[in-house]
Amino acid sequence: MVGACIFCRIIRGEIRSPIVQESEHVLVISDIAPKAPIHYLILPKKHIENMASITTADKDICWAMWDMAQRLSKDLPDQAFNVIVNNGAAAGQSVFHLHWHFIAGKNIYSSGFSL
Ligand code: AMP
Repeated sequence: MVGACIFCRIIRGEIRSPIVQESEHVLVISDIAPKAPIHYLILPKKHIENMASITTADKDICWAMWDMAQRLSKDLPDQAFNVIVNNGAAAGQSVFHLHWHFIAGKNIYSSGFSL
């Protein structure tokens, strides 16, 4: 954990943020500025700067994040969701504690974005 990191502070309970789900390695909170009807953040409890910083030592954490996304999807009527990870400032990362945006209830491709 890193002192000033906002997500570490939420994980430590120093900043209040309603908890959506929790497991041994992972905390899920609602994004403070949601971009869809469901916009959760899946956070590892361990401070990892971003996806590029993950090592094989983190493999249990990685599985726990996938497992959590599956668990969250089971509450959706159609199991339709997106997971978005911004890695690095140039790719839009603004909080440097790894997180997955779990987005549902909106087709993100309806607003101009395409793959
Ligand atoms: P990113 O830009 O990919 O690093 O995403 C960071 C996300 O964290 C943004 O969508 C913010 O709205 C969200 N965020 C920042 N501070 C908080 C907070 N205190 N509680 C919940 N979400 C937050």
